[in-house]
Amino acid sequence: MQTHFTLAQLADPDIAESNKILRACVHCGFCTATCPTYVLLGDELDSPRGRIYLIKDMLENERPATADVVKHVDRCLSCLACMTTCPSGVHYMHLVDHARAHVEKTYRRPLPDRLLRGLLATLLPNPALFRGALFLGWLARPLAPVFGALGLGPVAAMLRLSRRPRRSQLGAARVFAPEGPRRGRVALLSGCANDVLDPAINAATVRILTRHGIEVVIPQGEGCCGSLVHHMGREDEAHARARANVDAWTAEIEGGGLDAIVINASGCGTTVKDYGFMLRTDGAYAAKAARVSGLARDICEYLATLPLAEPARKGLVVAYHAACSLQHGQRIVRQPKDLLSKMGFTVKDVPEGHLCCGSAGTYNIVHADIALRLRDRKIARIEQLAPDVIAAGNIGCMTQIATGTAIPVVHPVELLDWATGGPKPAGLGEADRKNSGRDAAAGERQTSGLAVLQ
Ligand code: SF4
Ligand code: SF4
Repeated sequence: MQTHFTLAQLADPDIAESNKILRACVHCGFCTATCPTYVLLGDELDSPRGRIYLIKDMLENERPATADVVKHVDRCLSCLACMTTCPSGVHYMHLVDHARAHVEKTYRRPLPDRLLRGLLATLLPNPALFRGALFLGWLARPLAPVFGALGLGPVAAMLRLSRRPRRSQLGAARVFAPEGPRRGRVALLSGCANDVLDPAINAATVRILTRHGIEVVIPQGEGCCGSLVHHMGREDEAHARARANVDAWTAEIEGGGLDAIVINASGCGTTVKDYGFMLRTDGAYAAKAARVSGLARDICEYLATLPLAEPARKGLVVAYHAACSLQHGQRIVRQPKDLLSKMGFTVKDVPEGHLCCGSAGTYNIVHADIALRLRDRKIARIEQLAPDVIAAGNIGCMTQIATGTAIPVVHPVELLDWATGGPKPAGLGEADRKNSGRDAAAGERQTSGLAVLQ
């Protein structure tokens, strides 16, 4: 694609980067076929190619964002299916991140939109506030249809997605000793949402790692990765969170040493792997951020490098939902499925697995209508498989899918932990009964819980 940025414009590193991305696009349109919003809405401007044109025009002409551009950029889920499809290697993620920051700087949203976004940006990255809000939402959940009927879709969506907040199963501990000789040392990103929505994920992560000889640390000062605010275009807030995490992990790298920074929410993983890019122009942080990004690993990516214990479970049929941030954002496709198969589970791919479930950070709140259509489409494809359980490597997808089906939804690490000696995932309920006959030892294992934790 031809671009016409001036030399003065190209002196801005963000413009220079977007120019490079735009010039890689050859307008072929292959990406439209796998874009969820184009598939649903059929409007070229809601396709990757259409958005690329809009962004190019806005940046090249140094125009403030218009309501129309904002509508189409906002509708993008940042699922990155277009990046997987694109034969020219167009880095759409960095382009749309730049566009969102430009929108945030140049466009004044209507008041309700500003209030909603401000509320989400304040509550979600802060576990204490999020916990309180979730509790209130859970109490008011029966009112969701009323708010929906009143046309207050985002409020209805927040209530529908609310669940009773849980207590962290890790307690105040920050270091978890390995069982047996130490084979490695990793930091775990405990995250902002995981421990409020489903603390069993972090607990299973710590158990399986320590059981296989890996010391796990949760460094002081680490917290929300910043992806939620990053995708809202709130660049300064996102960068501040990235710097805080880089500081926390750098202290650990230069102290006890780290083999990896393990992340079990793939949306966060995609962002942490991008810290090196996000902070590339910050002289004080660029090198440290690049080192952090280089150490970031999804939990299944990391477990695939370990010799795991012999599996104790076989037979459950698992529908594997590939989170977009994992399959498109990090290009991690095989590892979770291979690990689950190796552990004796029968793994089934979900048809149309490249399409987003509609979760996408805060998308299922701010664009509840499109998100619900994507959720229902995803669940219909999953239910065709008649699985015992659904496994997904991102808390956002897990929450989104669980609101629309009675099939249990768990994180793959919970199944892997169970198969290698941990307790049965609580969310599994009776799902393993029909395949069991092997549960004599399970009750004992369930009591083992977090005994290994310091
Ligand atoms: S990120 Fe997803 S929703 Fe956005 S343009 Fe690409 S494929 Fe479409
Ligand atoms: S597939 Fe890639 S090159 Fe083709 S239109 Fe889409 S972004 Fe451009």
